[in-house]
This record gives sequence, structure tokens and C-alpha cells, in this order.
Amino acid sequence: MQLNFIANAPVPSCSGRTIAVIDPSHGQAFDQIQRSNAEDLGMAVRAARQCMDSVWSKVTAVQRGRLLMRLSAKVAEHAEELALLEQRDCGKPTRQARADAAALSRYFEFYAGACDKLHGETIPYLDGYSVLTWREPHGVTGHIIPWNYPMQIFGRSVGGALAAGNVCVVKPSEDACLSLIRVAQLAAEVGFPAGALNIVTGYGHEVGDALARHAGIDHISFTGSPRIGTLVQQLAAERHCPVTLELGGKSPQIVFADADLDAAIPAIVNAIVQNSGQTCSAGSRLLVDEQVYEPLLVRLGEAFSKLRAGPAAMDLDLGPLIRQSQQQRVWDFLSDAQVAGIPMVAQGQIADEAPDTGFYQAPTLLRDVPVTHRLAQEEVFGPVLAAMPFRDEDHAVELANATQFGLVAGLWTRDGGRQFRVAKRIRSGQVFINNYGAGGGVELPFGGFKASGHGREKGFEALYGFTALKTVAIRHG
Ligand code: NAD
Repeated sequence: MQLNFIANAPVPSCSGRTIAVIDPSHGQAFDQIQRSNAEDLGMAVRAARQCMDSVWSKVTAVQRGRLLMRLSAKVAEHAEELALLEQRDCGKPTRQARADAAALSRYFEFYAGACDKLHGETIPYLDGYSVLTWREPHGVTGHIIPWNYPMQIFGRSVGGALAAGNVCVVKPSEDACLSLIRVAQLAAEVGFPAGALNIVTGYGHEVGDALARHAGIDHISFTGSPRIGTLVQQLAAERHCPVTLELGGKSPQIVFADADLDAAIPAIVNAIVQNSGQTCSAGSRLLVDEQVYEPLLVRLGEAFSKLRAGPAAMDLDLGPLIRQSQQQRVWDFLSDAQVAGIPMVAQGQIADEAPDTGFYQAPTLLRDVPVTHRLAQEEVFGPVLAAMPFRDEDHAVELANATQFGLVAGLWTRDGGRQFRVAKRIRSGQVFINNYGAGGGVELPFGGFKASGHGREKGFEALYGFTALKTVAIRHG
């Protein structure tokens, strides 16, 4: 039984209600988390506020950095344990779960080093005046986290917030809490004061809603779907609470005829298969120069048919999807494709060892997907790649920008002029040229345009979002 973690102590929910934790690899419950409500959330906010007022506001930037560095080391020490927790909770293949634990440690390391480098400015002004700016923490920051990459998103969001001097109340997804509860315990062990980092689990419409409404939350970092992001932003607007929004994507991979296909193919496959396609930045649309459309689809079809999905611990190309409703969502997209006559190029396999009660989906490559079809417009959040040809550079840009989203674009071309022209014209927060998110990018600012949200997290940039700027103007003498 997992408890909330408030003021460095395990705490049951006030109502005594719990939620079963399901292992997506076989669909069976193996643990329980607390089903918290507004009362539990209120308790966490009070603990955070008290910590801020009594302790945390007096902790220097250097000390915050040292604490975060200790947490980074502690996470690294417990990486295997954390990876196993998240593997079971989310159905992640072993390599992915380990990569996520390593990324969490790296986020804390990065933000540890950033704490004492966040400076204000001095501004030339009237004769006899000095003007300076301070970057002040918001206070109590609320963090609503999705289930697809709990450790990674916690690392970038909570790491940045703590580094900037905030205290945090975290609402993980009801589908994936275990690793984050453990990380909060580790934070207490390395010396974070009681109330600096609190975890309250439960359903979005209950405790998530309470977080969005709570007057004691001074800033919200929301990562999740555009629909819920809109709701959270509306609630926060009622009380003028700033919100960082990191939402969905329908990211294009754009392949020109001069591209190095040997380099592009594995990256294109990985970008839709990683985490079973349940990635905000999944490269879920493939836009291909008509000159190389057919040969590329032949090669990608071969690659797709070799892919295998299976239980997380088998560490195949893909694990299961997170839950049955997500599996049903992917099936609905695929049956719509069938009804619309969209041709399937290839499909991977589901391993014989995969239990029928698990939530598996074989990776699927579709071709000639009309740009207006929902497969080219909406986030599937499953391993389904929608390919379509383009005629020339203008057409490629038009197709790339033809969705409500603008998170990431992959561009594959050796033409230097085209790299810059197209990168400039694409409305997305990230453009990767001849790579697709290589290296994890902890240091690189990340966020979206349009319905992908307007927050920027990761990198140093995140620290600006987790602070408010105060201008101080002094008249001398
Ligand atoms: P979701 O929006 O359903 O849930 C996200 C979080 O919001 C969960 O913790 C959930 O409990 C909570 N929530 C649900 N209803 C709520 C409410 N009424 N009030 C407050 N909180 C509420 O999203 P999900 O299904 O968990 O995650 C998948 C989505 O997240 C996808 O759209 C994906 O693209 C997006 N995502 C974006 C990024 C990014 O950086 N842009 C990263 C990862 C995931």
C-alpha cells in the first residue's frame, strides 16, 4: 500500500479510499495508491507553505544546489530500484525504464548546477538611479504529471522549480505514481526539509482539480493532454495563477530526397516505437518527398515487420500500452483507417509470451493518409505511423504545419540552405535536423507552439518560468 508523502512523512488519504495499481503487462492489480481529495491537497499545500516561510526561503542558492546534487547521486544509487518500479507501473521495457531513471538523476544534476547561476540584471536608467531585477520564486508550485514519463517529467519540472527556490506539491497521474513517491522519500533522506516536496496521489478530476483551484498554489506546471490543460488553465485564470503548459503533439518527420536514409530510418522507427508511441514528441507523421516515397516505405515496412511488442521485463522493442482504454483508443484509430481505405504497409508482432490480459499493440505503418484524416490530425498515443508524400519544399512545410499542434519536427536533408529555410517556417518548439532528440536533451529548452502548449521546461530556460521578475529602482542619496 502506497501512501501520500507530505512534510517528509507517509500519510494516508483523509477519506481512507484507495485506487488499485495495475501492471499493464498483464492487466492485474499489484498495489494500491491513495485516492486523495481537496482535504489531502490542502494538507500538502499547508506543509509546503510552512516549509517556505520557516526554512526554504532562508536556504541559499548554493545550499539548494548541494541538496539537489545529493538527490541526483541518491537517484543514481537507486536507479535500478526506480527503473523497476516504473517498469511495473507503466509497462516500460527495461532499457527505457533505466534510461528514464538516468534522466531523472541527470535533471537533478543539471538543476543543481544551475541554482546559483540564476541572476538578475542591472539596467541603465535616469541619472541618480540604480535599477536591478530579482528573480524570485513563485512560492508553492503545483505540478500535475502524466503517466507516460513520470520520472523524466518530474525531473524537469520539480528539478527546475526547486532550483529556482520554490517548494512543490506534486499530483502524479493515477496510472503512474510509484517511482515518484519513492523519489520524494529519497529527497527526505538526503536532507530536503519537511514540506519542500510533497506527493499527493489520486484522480485528476478530484485531487488534480483541487490543485488547479487551490488559492495557496502560486504557480502550476501542467504536462498532459490539451483538453485537461485547457481546463487547468481556465481554473487557474480565475485566480490569476500562472500556468506552464506542456501538451500534446502530432510531430512530423520530413524526409527530403537528398536525405541520408540509412541514418533516418532507425530514428524514424524509434521516434514512433519508443514507449509504445506514448510520447508527446512521438514522430507520428511521416512526410516524404515523392521521389523517395516508395523506396522509403519498402525499407520502413521491412523494419516495422521485425518489431516486437511484449511484457515489459522481456525488454523488446515495445512494452504494452498503459491501460485498456488506451488500447481501445488505438484500435478505434486503426478501424477508422480501415473504413477510410487507408492502406497498411506493415505491422510488427506481439510476442507469444504476452498475456491476453495485457494491453499490447503491434506497431503499424500506414500510407497515403489524407492530411485531413484524424490519423494525420489527432494524437493517437500509440505506435502508429501515418505516412504521406509531398511534392516540394512548400508542400512539405504546408503539411508539417497543417495540424493544431506544434511540438517537434524532424527534418532530414543534407541541403544546408533548406535546413534553415524549413526550420524557420515550421511552427514548432523544436526542430531536429538529421537527428530526432538524440541525447535526451536535459539541457535543451523544450515546449510547444499552438495546442502543444506555451510552457518551456528543460534547460536553463525553465528557471525563468519558475520565477517572477521583480524590478527594484533606487534613487541615490
Ligand atoms: P491527461 O491530461 O489525461 O492527464 C495528465 C494529468 O492531469 C494526470 O495527472 C491527470 O490525473 C491530471 N488530470 C486529469 N483530469 C484533471 C482535471 N480535471 N484537473 C486537473 N488535473 C487533471 O494526460 P495523460 O493521458 O496522463 O498524458 C498524455 C498526454 O500528455 C498526451 O497528450 C501527451 O502528449 C501529453 N504530454 C505532453 C508532454 C510535453 O512535454 N509536451 C510530455 C508528456 C506528455
